[in-house]
Amino acid sequence: MLIIENLSAEIDGKQILNGLTLTVEAGEIHAIMGPNGAGKSTLAYVLGGRPGYEVTGGSVTFNGKDLLDMDPHERAAAGMFLGFQYPVEIPGVSNVQFLREALNSQRKARGEEPLSGGEFLKLAKEKAGLLKLDMDMLKRNVNVGFSGGEKKRNEMVQMGILDPQFAVLDETDSGLDIDALRVVGEGINTIMRDPAKGVLLITHYQRLLDVVQPDKVSILAKGRIVETGGPELAHRLEEEGYDAVMKEDA
Ligand code: ADP
Ligand code: MG
Ligand code: MG
Repeated sequence: MLIIENLSAEIDGKQILNGLTLTVEAGEIHAIMGPNGAGKSTLAYVLGGRPGYEVTGGSVTFNGKDLLDMDPHERAAAGMFLGFQYPVEIPGVSNVQFLREALNSQRKARGEEPLSGGEFLKLAKEKAGLLKLDMDMLKRNVNVGFSGGEKKRNEMVQMGILDPQFAVLDETDSGLDIDALRVVGEGINTIMRDPAKGVLLITHYQRLLDVVQPDKVSILAKGRIVETGGPELAHRLEEEGYDAVMKEDA
């Protein structure tokens, strides 16, 4: 579904991704772990098409199409969702307005009818309930005044409503207490655990992977994938740390 080959990218003239190669099949939840500064968020931004990130080599193919050739909104319409390490606040725009607009623009790009206000609210209620998010929160401005945990839950509601084919989730677990972590993890399972979908789950911690069990685990270090294994690799990293595991396996 997602084939990343020899990808290199820089920001402000500084090379961050260095020949990164990674494949995610349909039905796969692939965890990416790695030291701080390794380039994990950069990978997420490059996949999302964030301005300022310059691809200097390699390719990314999504469902057979050249992802890097698409604008960010085309990537979203093609089924790619990006969850941020630090979700942005949008004063003056309610969650409901924002999500209905986003969903309907994606539907339009796919040649589908837009949802009416009533249809959209029904869908939003269903997804908010699934993630134990108060409907009142959906009426508030996007992320404004939300706690860290509420922002992450809100992001899961966005994902539930947009129902993407592929999600790149960057440290969705950061700043979550144990209960919120379970809710968010189960949200990821409910929305994305599907033979036709794929997930790149960027995380530092085994505790999220206890809830969202990955099919594969890769280590990203110094801008490239240095090792791929099964769930046991995450357990070893948790116990021994990156340096020890990478040295042992080198
Ligand atoms: P990770 O998410 O793995 O912790 P990042 O992708 O956020 O790592 O960052 C990778 C490297 O890129 C870090 O060394 C970081 O300091 C650097 N970096 C990020 N943004 C910029 C920027 N605007 N200019 C220069 N270096 C940057
Ligand atoms: Mg980091
Ligand atoms: Mg990061």
